[in-house]
Amino acid sequence: MHHLKRKTIPFTSIVGQDDMKFALILNAINPRIGGVLIRGDKGTAKSTAVRALADLLENILVVENCPFNCDPANPEDMCDLCFEKHEKNQIKAVNHKTPVVDLPLGATEDRVVGSLNVERAIKEGIKALEPGILAACNRGILYIDEVNLLDDHVADVLLDSAAMGVNIVEREGVSVAHPSKFILVGTMNPEEGEIRPQLLDRFGLQVSVVGIADVDQRMQIAKNAEAFDADPDGFAEGCIESQETLKERISSARKNLRNVSMSDDLLRSIASTCIDLGVKTHRAEIVITRTAKTIAAYEGRTEVISEDVKKAMELALSHRMRSRPFEPPTLNKEKLEKSLTQHQHEHLHEHEHHHEHGHQHEHHHIQKQEQKPREPYAQHDSSEKGVRVHQL
Ligand SMILES: [Zn+2]
Repeated sequence: MHHLKRKTIPFTSIVGQDDMKFALILNAINPRIGGVLIRGDKGTAKSTAVRALADLLENILVVENCPFNCDPANPEDMCDLCFEKHEKNQIKAVNHKTPVVDLPLGATEDRVVGSLNVERAIKEGIKALEPGILAACNRGILYIDEVNLLDDHVADVLLDSAAMGVNIVEREGVSVAHPSKFILVGTMNPEEGEIRPQLLDRFGLQVSVVGIADVDQRMQIAKNAEAFDADPDGFAEGCIESQETLKERISSARKNLRNVSMSDDLLRSIASTCIDLGVKTHRAEIVITRTAKTIAAYEGRTEVISEDVKKAMELALSHRMRSRPFEPPTLNKEKLEKSLTQHQHEHLHEHEHHHEHGHQHEHHHIQKQEQKPREPYAQHDSSEKGVRVHQL
């Protein structure tokens, strides 16, 4: 370890860009959402926000000295060496920061997957691998700045690992494997070119950031930058309270997540809306469901409401819309809203009809509930924590 540490501006001091911050927070709560792609011009705090997210992540338990951060509690996902230790009851667990690993543009394949000494690998297996980036990011975040400029070959390797959760290195007929499960976070400036569709679909969510047009917010950004520059530690100290509050909120949302349920009616409206909008991939419904549940957990609720679904769709659908060649995919929010509302009404009427015939429907209230907007979602204020929005 060297004494030089890169200082990062605290997450809670980042002004505006609520969707970006919210998408990052949701991934911190629920890694199964599958990461986020952040689009935007240069100088819109994209990289800053990703780096700042690291401070909000909880520590994880890892097997001591394992280069792949194996989980001591999960033998199924262990590397060969840890699994051996597990069989012999020799696992020692240590606390570790959740890794946030940068994938530098121009990184070679060896740097990404690791380099394998073939002769040694025949005798020693995984020990013969000089671990690469896919080792370091296991159970953490893999951050790719300018992901649209990523080398095609490296992108293929990444997609394979991301799909299987395993990095397999094959050389001259010898192969070794290790766990590599990570959240993919990418940033890109669309002016520099579009991203490959296969890679795009790997990101759970997508947000666009633009330069802020509000004078006061822009002044605040400049002030924060000056204050942080002059005294990074002092500035960070001023943010301790808000950072801790947000960390606690994320942590309790993580715990709450498994108790969150969503009605079939809402799921049906998600599927119908996806069909309406011409979304082909079924991954969309899965990501929307996970995201909506995570939003409910973050809001301190145990049941998903239609407002959560709408927000989840905005975040999960824009990059899954069909686009014309050389144009970025965009989500028509009006169309989304119209379609979603229509499908929810349909279900409501079906229910009323069924009720006349004496059928039981537990989730009837969800569509009838009048929901008052609680924007902005990404406000880092826990005062609302635990408030139930619907009481029926
Ligand atoms: Zn291991």
